[in-house]
Amino acid sequence: MNRRVYLDYAATAPMLPEVERALCSAYTATPGNASTLYLEGRCARQALEGAREELAGVLGCAPQELYFCSGGTEAAGTLIEGIARGAQEQPDERRGRKQVICAAFEHHAVLESALSLKRQGFEVVLLRPNREGYLLPEDLAGVLSENTLLVTVMLAQNELGTVQDVASLASLAHQAGALFVSDCVQAFGKMPFSLDELAVDAACFSAHKLGGPFGVGAFYLRPGVSFLPRQLGGGQERRLRSGTQDVSGAQGFALAARLQTDELLTGERGRLALLRDSLLTQLGQGSDRIRPTILLPSGDAARQLPGFLPLLVRGIESQTMVLKLDELGFAVSGGAACSSASLEPSHVLTSLGIPKDDAYGALRVTLGRGSTAEDCERFGETLLSLL
Ligand code: PLP
Repeated sequence: MNRRVYLDYAATAPMLPEVERALCSAYTATPGNASTLYLEGRCARQALEGAREELAGVLGCAPQELYFCSGGTEAAGTLIEGIARGAQEQPDERRGRKQVICAAFEHHAVLESALSLKRQGFEVVLLRPNREGYLLPEDLAGVLSENTLLVTVMLAQNELGTVQDVASLASLAHQAGALFVSDCVQAFGKMPFSLDELAVDAACFSAHKLGGPFGVGAFYLRPGVSFLPRQLGGGQERRLRSGTQDVSGAQGFALAARLQTDELLTGERGRLALLRDSLLTQLGQGSDRIRPTILLPSGDAARQLPGFLPLLVRGIESQTMVLKLDELGFAVSGGAACSSASLEPSHVLTSLGIPKDDAYGALRVTLGRGSTAEDCERFGETLLSLL
């Protein structure tokens, strides 16, 4: 029997073997609670701060600007709610501003958090990208006003792989006196970037998307931004995120982040781009019913994650394809993993203006460290055999 082929690196990246090994020893090496004063606690604290330093080094920020939490969803919600409440309830130059601008293709973690602000009297503006999956600076400039408190745009889109011009968008938001949050969950480990250069006010990250453990994440918050914590309790993470820290999880996250970003320097992006390009050629030559969802660049282009191949297949539904491919040994997604159980077409595809009938045949193939040319070719043949 053929081994299974995993082609859903955007949903989660299988844990790196180096991280798996490190986690096993970390669990026994740091048994203490990082908030306690005795030896075991001090060792745990040292390990936690070591992980924070390592992660900050990879991200291009100061360690004290990073806060550990349980993942991307918590990080996004904490930031959006914390910044919105902070600006209203603390002495702040933005007090009274009530508009939140959100890219319409943000992950549900961001969208739902922003929409929940509506119930608290905020105005939420959803800004549509262009047909190719990019939010244009001129469109943002058109809606920014002196009432804008917060703008949120992700760095890499999780269904399309498009890399947004976050530095320019953040600069526009700042010119209007607004704050800028970026969901960097999908970008982290898949493209080089530095928080220092993006110059955003806040950002969020998740470990399992880059080969680290599940249930671990972090957020970056620029010092000086008014903020009210969502989770109250023991005051860990400098009072911004209470709860006993998962020290070994943080260590696994930092190690995965370093390994994945080091790998970006070794030609891995070029390798993934080549695999994606030849799979796309194979599919295009095999059937006129398959087309890329957006115009994809060939090779390793800065504005597209190289391992992402979003497809629209005519005449067959996403779910049917996903289940048939699963039976035949392939793990691939119909859209975002979190919404793939829904029969509604993805909000991301709808935001691009793709008609419902086309969006029903969406397939998201995402490649990563373990993907090989042979796997991709076998996948291509199998998908074509379903049509
Ligand atoms: N943001 C983006 C862009 C994502 O792709 C995901 C995961 O699907 C999340 C946030 C949520 O992260 P987590 O799974 O760590 O909660």
